[in-house]
Amino acid sequence: ATLSLMVEVEEKPKFDADKTALLVKEVRKSFNSGKTRSYEWRVSQLKSIEKMVEEKEMEITEALHKDLSKPAFEAFISEISQVKSSCKLALKELSSWMIPEKVKTSLTTYPSSAEIVSEPLGVVLVISTWNFPFLLSLDPVIGAISAGNAVVLKPSEIAPATSLLLSNLVQEYLDNSAIRVVEGAVDETTALLAQKWDKILYTGSARVARIVMAAAAKHLTPVILELGGKCPAVVDSNIDLQVAVRRIIAGKWACNNGQACIGVDYIITTNAFAPKLIHSLRHELEQFFGKDPMKSKDISRIVSSSHFARLVKLLDEENVSDKVVFGGQRDENQLKIAPTILLDVPEDSQIMQEEIFGPLMPIHTVEKLEDSFEVINSKQKPLAAYLFTNDELLKKDFVQNISSGGMLINDTVVHVATEGLPFGGVGESGMGSYHGKFSFDAFSHKKAVLYRSFAGDASIRYPPYSPEKQRLL
Ligand code: NAD
Repeated sequence: ATLSLMVEVEEKPKFDADKTALLVKEVRKSFNSGKTRSYEWRVSQLKSIEKMVEEKEMEITEALHKDLSKPAFEAFISEISQVKSSCKLALKELSSWMIPEKVKTSLTTYPSSAEIVSEPLGVVLVISTWNFPFLLSLDPVIGAISAGNAVVLKPSEIAPATSLLLSNLVQEYLDNSAIRVVEGAVDETTALLAQKWDKILYTGSARVARIVMAAAAKHLTPVILELGGKCPAVVDSNIDLQVAVRRIIAGKWACNNGQACIGVDYIITTNAFAPKLIHSLRHELEQFFGKDPMKSKDISRIVSSSHFARLVKLLDEENVSDKVVFGGQRDENQLKIAPTILLDVPEDSQIMQEEIFGPLMPIHTVEKLEDSFEVINSKQKPLAAYLFTNDELLKKDFVQNISSGGMLINDTVVHVATEGLPFGGVGESGMGSYHGKFSFDAFSHKKAVLYRSFAGDASIRYPPYSPEKQRLL
């Protein structure tokens, strides 16, 4: 039996790099034909995505449940409805986004006119992740299509049900000459990265982002890197505690059970206020998930056994496990970890050093709230930073002194759904941004075009040069 298994494993077809090259060639041919540039093509594909989401909502919800046991409500609110609104906005605004932007010209070029023309970049690659595997795959694709590009999507192998569904749905609903899905893991992504792309949008870890950027550099391909980080929530005492706590829970445990790039990673508050805050967190957590959160259907599981093991290791570290003040239960068979709160773990413990990306919430206490700035600024720049306060001066200081991808005062995560705001990181949390019009811009080249007539041809610019001509300038 062992021998036949070995033969089976050996005979499994190896990943074919030539096939990838061919696929990219085909997609490029389609882009070069000019079809993706037309307004009509863009609209038809966006409408097809809308139709696809409308008709396959059940399948999408099921796939997300298979991959993460994501509650249907969360699947709808944080993935399905977001994809729908991105399509809706693009369909509503596309014609105006595509209009060249007129700009003023200078006296030097008089008479002339100038405009900025948004042109598609070409063939773009979207490499997606597993935590919001539907949204984070399709949202960049919507941007790429809106801007008139051909696009290849590589969903995450860690969310296999959603990856397969995306592959099938794209085949069924979209123009496959210009929009394709390549499923797979490291080998497939490596083969894709060896190709020449006109832009790459990568969502995932900073470790792999470095691999992506190095591969892109070989072809001088621009990249958008959507990464993560330790997103802090600073909590003042002069707040509506219940509202603040509910919003913190919504931005941690009711958001993929903490497996979210903009989820609250840790809380900072004063040591005087911490007991009140913990009391309220316990109370509201019980209201949301019941007395035994391990049995709650409203909470996602941990995505895989290796992610589960990593989180348990963070929790079981010496001088950390004894700091649990709420939760701590885990079930390896079901890959579940209960909402867990820890108080004042050592600053040099792993849980305070790396992005947690799970249901563990350390609370770091400080003497006065202003000390939180130093704590946050001693770490890499996060993707989001949150502050709960009614103190206007503190709000101002926070905005001025904390650098993060995005920022939200008195709530968590909902800035991501604010159409007019760009979404992206800074420093270790990423580069570039997208969402709404920013997605269109992210996948467009802003071509500078100056129009002149043959009138007004000043001879001063031409040789032979002379001191007299220079004096006239
Ligand atoms: P990951 O980097 O391991 O995987 C993401 C993608 O990279 C997958 O498609 C995977 O197949 C591919 N990949 C993995 N290893 C590779 C390799 N060696 N070479 C080439 N490709 C490879 O990231 P992850 O664990 O899926 O995601 C977790 C991180 O993503 C967290 O830091 C989180 O904060 C971040 N994240 C960011 C956003 C955002 O929008 N900014 C959203 C979700 C997650």
